[in-house]
Amino acid sequence: MITIPEQLVIRPPSEAMSLLVKVVRGCSWNRCLFCGIYDLYGERYSLRSLEEMKKDIVALLELHGDIFETAFLGDADPMALDTGFLVEVIRYLRERFPSLRRVTAYGRSSSLWKKGLVELKELHACGLDRIHVGMESGSNRILAFHKKGASKVQHIEAGLKVKEAGMEISFYFLTGLGGELWWEEHVRESADVVNAVKPQFLRIRRLWIHPASRLIPRIKSGEFVPQTPEGTVRELKELIERLDAEGTVILSDHANNYIHVQGRLMKDKKDMLENINAFLELPDDAREKHYNSVLSVI
Ligand code: SF4
Repeated sequence: MITIPEQLVIRPPSEAMSLLVKVVRGCSWNRCLFCGIYDLYGERYSLRSLEEMKKDIVALLELHGDIFETAFLGDADPMALDTGFLVEVIRYLRERFPSLRRVTAYGRSSSLWKKGLVELKELHACGLDRIHVGMESGSNRILAFHKKGASKVQHIEAGLKVKEAGMEISFYFLTGLGGELWWEEHVRESADVVNAVKPQFLRIRRLWIHPASRLIPRIKSGEFVPQTPEGTVRELKELIERLDAEGTVILSDHANNYIHVQGRLMKDKKDMLENINAFLELPDDAREKHYNSVLSVI
């Protein structure tokens, strides 16, 4: 009987060319107010067995061949899984796909924070190279409001531990997450986290409040006031102004962003800020037209 490998719900845009391996279904946390992605796709959280994983990996090899240089492990938080299980899966994957040069995974700060340094080193030793972490914000108030289940300290400690274990870390910063009420705190506290961790990558995202968002009742009650499009651009500007994380590469690699910046700190900081300022100096109607032309997609 032919095995059809299970598909991931989402992956980072930077993993578009990667072999996608589903080591867990859905999100074990699934509470963040700004998210709801797995509910949207009807994917409920459940574990997968090692036997299932091996079958999937063999099926992926039969389907594609050993043609990939990179692989990505999902769904939401493989780092919450048992380390022994992950090590077995990654070893098996690396053996079957010897052309792989990089294996990455999503991971929540809180899950990474709970893992010991020895466990993270074990994961790196068996072939895990990079973790994509949804930092979203460094503000404890905003993290708690959105039920992220992680704190500023956890972001920092988890990020530093991943780096100490020899792996790369890719943080995601979500512009708009503090809304109009807390945007300054959002930027200030997030910059603190990035400066403390100096992640290899900082990826910029924009909060999109879709019609079924868990945030809608909070907006109706006035607890959350959505940020304006221009507000998200100003957040990005202020964030970059505050960053001194030497070596961190900043990327806006998602279609929802109003402004696309790309560069390495501190070398390209001035250029990135000049690009943002040049946009903000455009006439009002040109900026408004641009905001209206940018789509909101998953
Ligand atoms: S943002 Fe991440 S942790 Fe939060 S519900 Fe979505 S997938 Fe789960």
